[in-house]
Amino acid sequence: MGALSGGAILTIDLGALADNWRTLRDRSGGAECAAVVKADAYGLGIEPAAAALAAAGCRTFFVAHLSEARRVRHACADATIYVLNGLLPGSEGAFLPDGIRPVLGSPEEIVDWAAFCRAQGKRLPAAIHIDTGMNRLGLPVADAFDLAADPILADFKPALLMSHLVAAEDTANPVTARQVADFERVRGAFLGVPASLANSSGILHDGVPGYDLVRAGFALYGGNPTPGRDNPMGPVVRLEAGIVQLRDVSDGEAVGYNGTWTARGPRRLATLSIGYADGYSRAASVTDSDGGTPRGQAIVAGRRCPFAGRVSMDLIILDVTDVPRDAVKRGDRAVLIGDDLTIDEVGARAGTIGYEVLTSLGKRYDRRYVGG
Ligand SMILES: *Cc1c(COP(=O)(O)O)cnc(C)c1O
Repeated sequence: MGALSGGAILTIDLGALADNWRTLRDRSGGAECAAVVKADAYGLGIEPAAAALAAAGCRTFFVAHLSEARRVRHACADATIYVLNGLLPGSEGAFLPDGIRPVLGSPEEIVDWAAFCRAQGKRLPAAIHIDTGMNRLGLPVADAFDLAADPILADFKPALLMSHLVAAEDTANPVTARQVADFERVRGAFLGVPASLANSSGILHDGVPGYDLVRAGFALYGGNPTPGRDNPMGPVVRLEAGIVQLRDVSDGEAVGYNGTWTARGPRRLATLSIGYADGYSRAASVTDSDGGTPRGQAIVAGRRCPFAGRVSMDLIILDVTDVPRDAVKRGDRAVLIGDDLTIDEVGARAGTIGYEVLTSLGKRYDRRYVGG
């Protein structure tokens, strides 16, 4: 069974990650292409991902937390690193030793950072986050104009003016054009400060300027930034689990916890060594009452096979009836992510998105980094 440890095997292709970064850089209209490596590089491992991206030429990284920023700093001594979640009260001093920059997202954070800089006697760099429609982080547009005229700006170094798109993957959504227009107006008040608006989908959205820097996340890791169209990105993640047992069940037999799946006719089942304790969503369970909603599948011997019954903690049961008997045996591997089964499809089959599939990738997998 491939992994003698018994668990599923997660293969992460750092060469494909670097290729995706180059693809996005080349499509960014001359803007610098920064990498968003929050949440452990979307579940892939922050140190190997950041090191591979830095080796490809990436110079700027975004994370959510200061602890993540420190991990990037360890992997990349000279990178520029921004913390998207900004300043927690009293945390200013913690940014200093590793030269990490906060993304200031409220007037209070700006006051705190400016006061810290005055006390240090240094104009330390930080990004300013403008809210153009998310209502999550960032200064409202009116506050941004006030800030542009405020002498407090002289106390620190505004190194980046940024905002975040609400729905860039949905090219028909008019909110993007409104966000671009608002950001444009604010940018005019912060002359000389580099600007950044696009996430992965924004980079590939014709209506979103790249400005000085784009912030690529999901697409780097192989997710499709253009849903409904061909994915311009290469796959980075492959997930395979070993077949622990094969068995035949007859018509009417119930399968899995609570017997929620019933064999219609004689079926052949394969039990896989992977479950929700590995981060594989239990929402992908296939039950008699699904009513045809797309749910979990895996690939065995080149064929798509549906799950049978509930995803359990450490195991998933697969209906392999359609695989020729001699094409599958105990110890073979089933593909849960890979070949034509993309992270986006796996997400949809669990009622979620590829982003959550990636960031849920389990800690128990036998992780193999290739192409580094
Ligand atoms: C997560 C995040 C990104 C990256 O978004 P993707 O859709 O993964 O490319 C960019 N900017 C901000 C502010 C983010 O929070």
